[in-house]
Amino acid sequence: MEVLYNSTRRNGGPVTASQAILKGLSDDGGLFVPDHIPALDKSLKELASMNYKEIAYEVMKLFLTDFTEEELKNCIERAYDEKFDTEVIAPLTEAEGAYFLELFHGPTIAFKDMALSILPHLLITSARKNQIKNEIVILTATSGDTGKAALAGFADVKGTRIIVFYPKNGVSPIQEKQMVTQKGANTLVVGIHGNFDDAQTGVKKIFSDKKLAEEMDEKGFQFSSANSINVGRLVPQICYYVYAYAKLLSEGKIAEGEKINVVVPTGNFGNILAAFYAKNMGLPIGKLICASNENKVLYDFFRTGIYDRNREFVLTSSPSMDILISSNLERLIYRIAGNDAEKNKSLMAALSGEGKYEITPEMREELKDFYGNYAGETETAEIIHKLYEDCGYVIDTHTAVAAAVYEKYKAETGDNAKTVIASTASPYKFTRSVMNAIDGKYDAMSDFELADELSRLANVKIPKAIEEIRTAPVVHDKQCDVDQMQQVVRDFLGI
Ligand SMILES: *Cc1c(COP(=O)(O)O)cnc(C)c1O
Repeated sequence: MEVLYNSTRRNGGPVTASQAILKGLSDDGGLFVPDHIPALDKSLKELASMNYKEIAYEVMKLFLTDFTEEELKNCIERAYDEKFDTEVIAPLTEAEGAYFLELFHGPTIAFKDMALSILPHLLITSARKNQIKNEIVILTATSGDTGKAALAGFADVKGTRIIVFYPKNGVSPIQEKQMVTQKGANTLVVGIHGNFDDAQTGVKKIFSDKKLAEEMDEKGFQFSSANSINVGRLVPQICYYVYAYAKLLSEGKIAEGEKINVVVPTGNFGNILAAFYAKNMGLPIGKLICASNENKVLYDFFRTGIYDRNREFVLTSSPSMDILISSNLERLIYRIAGNDAEKNKSLMAALSGEGKYEITPEMREELKDFYGNYAGETETAEIIHKLYEDCGYVIDTHTAVAAAVYEKYKAETGDNAKTVIASTASPYKFTRSVMNAIDGKYDAMSDFELADELSRLANVKIPKAIEEIRTAPVVHDKQCDVDQMQQVVRDFLGI
């Protein structure tokens, strides 16, 4: 059955999957959502015998219904290849009674690669299907990891340009070095004087500027998005939850149909929303455990039904989760409002006006599948230390937030169901915080000395992504204020 995509802020006028991918964000500022969540049409047992690419096809074909089998398989083949340092693509590692789903084996060593290695192919295919002649300009705000993963995916891809805005003082040194050393004549990386929310709001504003869109079209350009607001990112993220379940089943760790819990370190709410969609496809998932860092706006939301961004923005050791406006939550709000675009729109208007909104008791009822909690900086460091001491397994700061919240969840509920923790970044991406958590003695070392030390400690080879930037020259040094973002875009495109 065909799946069409509606805007969360307008009733009616659905578009096809390829059109939704091309546009990224709907013209009315809403996000595209599938008009229904398709059910898995293979049994769990059948899925258990498949590899990552086969499962990716089984999931994505159900959502991207206007892609042919050949088109989709072609995209999957090109995405999940030797760019990943392991053939299984997303290995599961058991440690301290949980299964860490390692989503960081792609080219930029964060989970964003799982979707951004396929998005360029989905986008180019979509452009071809819709006879688009314009050059596609990918406009992206990043809290650190999306930027590099999108740059890696789109660099030198014909018919595209990519512009990345990141918070100048809000990313880790390794994250920044990864971005500013990006090669490719079609790339632009800009540090903004502001935080991630400023970058994201600025980008959304550029997207919904009608006059700019017209001028762009005249000059042969159109925007699209590589942020997790694009369904072309959301859908590939569903696949690894299905894969994790299938793997646990094939290895005899769970019985067919046994419910598992999923813990996701959350920022923009894209990754956990993908897990929610997987559950709604029929994958036996019990609780969706939403883990926040000290920017705990989601924890408060699940606890009180009030989403309130009026608070101090905290810079933490898990910068990719330093977010107060979780864009993808809008997709969940729309759904629990009974797919009512008007209702959702008024809540989102309250969010951009007063910075807060409250959902109704009926809507809160619909959130039973979710559990929210948060971990502070000390708790995060402690769990990194503990896991290393207990089993020699080194996790990054984001994954550590999830692991710490999982401990709280178990203590609070006594629920001992098998649990998958989304491991969203390699510890090599946040080496300093990770090594400091393991031992205070590393303070004086440089980032690359720390990487060498981590390699010795964890007995894991230094990823190519780190080796590459050791000596790479900086090629992007542009900075701007938030209100100059549009001008920067114009200058880059020559309009
Ligand atoms: C982006 C990111 C997150 C947050 O994911 P969302 O989909 O935005 O909730 C968590 N951890 C890491 C390492 C990330 O890069």
